[in-house]
Amino acid sequence: MDTEARVQHVLARMREHGGRMTPQRAAVVRVLVESTAHPSAEQVYEELLPQYPMLSLATVYKTVALLKEMGELIELMVDGVQVHFDGRQPYAHPHLVCKRCGSIIDVPIDQPHALAEQVAQTTGYAEVSASLDFWGVCPRCQSRE
Ligand SMILES: [Zn+2]
Repeated sequence: MDTEARVQHVLARMREHGGRMTPQRAAVVRVLVESTAHPSAEQVYEELLPQYPMLSLATVYKTVALLKEMGELIELMVDGVQVHFDGRQPYAHPHLVCKRCGSIIDVPIDQPHALAEQVAQTTGYAEVSASLDFWGVCPRCQSRE
């Protein structure tokens, strides 16, 4: 599914879910699904405010909560300060966090699910998921030093 198809899919599911659809809510969904930057609620709010002066931070939080409930978004607690969100890939996948600027990217790893499967097999646990995060210093911060 490409990004635009995913935006439409999530919006359609939200309507089914009985979520009231406003231009502000639709814009929040679009940012959360399209962004590769794993924004926090505050960052989504700040990005949209110039175009949507009627937007409130409460609307961002409510939309995030609904998407999470629908399984269309995951929360990342990587910097211990703010919760960041990934509405692009709403399933466990590894992230790489810059220790200096806090930017978060997805790490291309082959078969991240294989690790959880291996753990499930060796321990007999069911529904095993993993949260695998990496920390480093991004190329942009390196060039600033
Ligand atoms: Zn991600």
